[in-house]
Amino acid sequence: MDFRDALLARFLSYIEFDTQSKIGAKSSPSTQGQLKLAKQIEQELRILELEDIKLTKHGILTALLPANVENTPTIGLIAHLDTSPECSGKNVRAEVIENYRGGDIALGIGEEFISPVFYSFLHKLVGKTLIVADGNTLLGADNKAGIAEILTALSLLKQTNIPHCHIRVAFTPDEEIGLGMNYFPMEDFPCDWAYTIDGGEVGELEYENFNGASAKVTIHGRNIHTGSAKGKMINALTLACEFQQVFPVDETPEKTEGKEGFFHLHRFVGDVEKVELHYLIRDFDETQFNARKTFMEKAVKRFNQQKGLRQKVELEIKDSYKNMYATVQKVPQAIQLADLAMRECGIDPLHKPIRGGTDGAWLAEKGLACPNIFTGGYNFHSKHELISLEGMECAVKTIVKIAELAVK
Ligand SMILES: [Zn+2]
Repeated sequence: MDFRDALLARFLSYIEFDTQSKIGAKSSPSTQGQLKLAKQIEQELRILELEDIKLTKHGILTALLPANVENTPTIGLIAHLDTSPECSGKNVRAEVIENYRGGDIALGIGEEFISPVFYSFLHKLVGKTLIVADGNTLLGADNKAGIAEILTALSLLKQTNIPHCHIRVAFTPDEEIGLGMNYFPMEDFPCDWAYTIDGGEVGELEYENFNGASAKVTIHGRNIHTGSAKGKMINALTLACEFQQVFPVDETPEKTEGKEGFFHLHRFVGDVEKVELHYLIRDFDETQFNARKTFMEKAVKRFNQQKGLRQKVELEIKDSYKNMYATVQKVPQAIQLADLAMRECGIDPLHKPIRGGTDGAWLAEKGLACPNIFTGGYNFHSKHELISLEGMECAVKTIVKIAELAVK
């Protein structure tokens, strides 16, 4: 099965769409480019003669490739349409580097470059075909590589007569801003289990993620001319700096890895009158996660007691997502099958915890197990994003193999 050229052509056509999502949007899709890309994919699904093709007004596209044998499970495949709000995705000019020789890769006219000195994974990619952007934008492999890989796998399953299970696909907007899944039509996606095709290097298989919450601490002060402030001024900024000292200094994103959790102060805004501190709370373990939330509640309570402020410090905690592991555990075949498929394709599975959340975590909360599989890409959300064509081919082969093995 030679699908390399078709896969590359698909990927390059998708990254021409500017689908950057926008923080702060009230409804989804947050940008029109995502809907345009969804319509393009919808056309391709029609050409492939898939069934139940539906595109909702919120830009969620679903379809079914029916099994060609009896009694098979239904497996879902998911990729997201949007690219990160952190880096421009407009006018992406991709460069294809064949047979990478090692060493620095100059992007575009060369003001930006990617070096193995900073990115040691490049050593593993010598001899491969790499795709990079020109230094002005991200590439969009996250997650258009996933879309191209799913579409290519569907087309292979259609062309060849490999016995395969039912495959349902879903392409969703606004994953990067955590908004798209709010409108996900679960009733149009009845699956036994599913996979997001949204991971990094070849072999990655992820089925545990953080429990996540956000917290906002509001501190009120009282401003008065500095000349007559003695005994009267309450400086919310000073109080905020003091409050921040209650957190364990080693439990931050920059000092943790693997399954270690953290508190992350990511926004500090205000003046003497009022300060808002915005935190992310993350932990893999649910008990630890709850303990972190309790820690914050107690810290605020104690601070209020110590300071005796008339206007108390306020705390607001909101849950964001849950670790998908509890749901995945109930469907062990989701992991076993992906593992087996990779091995049969000559790939060593690389089980990793996700230090973030995914659309799969949202689905897991609704009861659908949804681990994450590699795309072959690196350095997502950055001008240094890149992907190898061989890695993408591995993803396609893995998807086809999963569909095939699910029959047995
Ligand atoms: Zn992604």
